[in-house]
Amino acid sequence: MRLSRFHLSTVKEVPADAEIASHRLMLRTGMIRKLAAGIYTWSPLGLRVLSRVEHVVREEMNRAGALELLMPSVQPRELWEETGRWEKFGGQLLKIRDRKEADYCYGPTHEEVITDYARHELRSYRQLPINFYQIQTKFRDEIRPRFGVMRAREFLMKDAYSFHLTADCLASEYRNMYDTYTRIFTRLGLRFRAVQADTGAIGGNASHEFQVLADSGEDAIAFSTGSDYAANVEMAQARAPDTSRPAPRQSLERVATPTQKTIDEVSAFLAVAPQQCVKTLVVRGNDGLVALCVRGDHEINETKAAKLAELPGALALADEAQIIAATGTTPGFIGPAGLPDTIPVIVDRDAAVLADFVCGGNADGSHYRGANWERDARISRVADIRNVVEGDPSPDGHGTLQIARGIEVGHVFQLGDKYAAALGASVLDDAGKSQVLQMGCYGIGVSRIVAAAIEQNHDAAGIIWPEPMAPWRAVICPINAAQNAQVREQAEQLYGELQARGIDVLLDDRGLRPGPMFADIELIGIPHRIVVSERGLAAGTFEYRRRGDSENLALSREALLERLA
Ligand code: ATP
Ligand code: MG
Repeated sequence: MRLSRFHLSTVKEVPADAEIASHRLMLRTGMIRKLAAGIYTWSPLGLRVLSRVEHVVREEMNRAGALELLMPSVQPRELWEETGRWEKFGGQLLKIRDRKEADYCYGPTHEEVITDYARHELRSYRQLPINFYQIQTKFRDEIRPRFGVMRAREFLMKDAYSFHLTADCLASEYRNMYDTYTRIFTRLGLRFRAVQADTGAIGGNASHEFQVLADSGEDAIAFSTGSDYAANVEMAQARAPDTSRPAPRQSLERVATPTQKTIDEVSAFLAVAPQQCVKTLVVRGNDGLVALCVRGDHEINETKAAKLAELPGALALADEAQIIAATGTTPGFIGPAGLPDTIPVIVDRDAAVLADFVCGGNADGSHYRGANWERDARISRVADIRNVVEGDPSPDGHGTLQIARGIEVGHVFQLGDKYAAALGASVLDDAGKSQVLQMGCYGIGVSRIVAAAIEQNHDAAGIIWPEPMAPWRAVICPINAAQNAQVREQAEQLYGELQARGIDVLLDDRGLRPGPMFADIELIGIPHRIVVSERGLAAGTFEYRRRGDSENLALSREALLERLA
């Protein structure tokens, strides 16, 4: 490709809402342009990279035996009613209406459509196992689209769905997909980790996420120093404390904390460690309010709390007015001691082994000191409702947990019969008996991978593409070509030769001065840069630099070709 014929539109300034490196760099390089919130055009440059990712994903999925198909983006409401997800999927589902007033959604995922396909196509166990996949645009009306294509509303996903007669067969395909994902992310040159995951709105049993490790990641992942345990913090279990609750030694005492509401304020004011305080959160329960208590230095885990039988499947804080009406107290002063009997008190396991703790006094401007469970404060139930923290013992008993940040680029699930049962997808087994299909689903955020790779691979000058994702492998930069026929000819000759050898090469024939030319080339992150200059030619060499290195190498033509081979 000659750069003079390409549409490269790099820019210096990016909007202030581009908070993370990948978003800034994708805008500065012109890879993407925003049309509306969370909706982007992929420029010719951006699409070159996106297509490379797509290519690797497709090749590995094919190699794994999955069959590519293409399903519609627009899906009828009736199908989603059959699984109950028309309502349950919530605000992320973009609903649309046609001229006949019929409802549709723009597909955020395709379990319904593929299961509908399967119930019509699959009749006999002889057709199983089978794994269908597509690479297709999805739409999710995310509450907070941000970070460019990292959390977009419209994005490109590879989604695969497998069907099986037995759970064992499903488990073995799950393993196959797990291994395939490992190959895909390894081939793309990403540093990643597979972690145990919550199954979320998709549902099902076993699930792993593939997380690209990056400080800007939205997910926190916990992994053990002493085993291969790794899980999203959303679902990482806290290990039950080894100790049991000591007997009370102090008596309950109300202390004035006129303006101290947060654990930090209260613990500093009363000179008590946060570990000796109980933090109480009042949330909306199935009927009325529910109090959740964790130790002062711990945080409530939303995913675990949402699964409590007392909660409606989601964690929502109660309104201040509701709390005041039920307790007569404003939120910062609520505690489990003396809370009305109508409010169940669910206590985290680590909070439940405290004695003589500090907690809200259920009266504005006061806390209790010396509070004790059972004696002063009711426990309705003890449960694991906190986030694990660094240094916690690993739940498998080996080592301690560390926390890292990650970007979820892939997710594999064993769904079991959840969708097949709802939609009536079954086959006849070898005894002629009808069996509901077992199903797995496997997603990859193809467009998100591009941003995730940049998060891991950039410097002050721009992107440093892992080779398999680079828009071009190599670039030729002639210096002063307009004034120097030999430079021009040698650059052209090398360009032809590299192309003949099948190397995807760019010739920067825009006639820019070296400064602006190199700035663009570094920004867009091409792995191999070859400078053709009068001085180099006089010495019989090309100036070679690998993106990310700080030194040039003077290489002969042969040495250069060998390096690029
Ligand atoms: P997240 O927790 O990040 O919202 P998810 O669990 O909703 O992801 P899945 O339903 O498993 O995601 O979708 C499969 C893959 O699609 C994800 O692993 C992720 O890489 C990608 N993906 C999901 N939502 C988005 C989005 N809004 N923008 C870009 N990629 C996304
Ligand atoms: Mg999501």
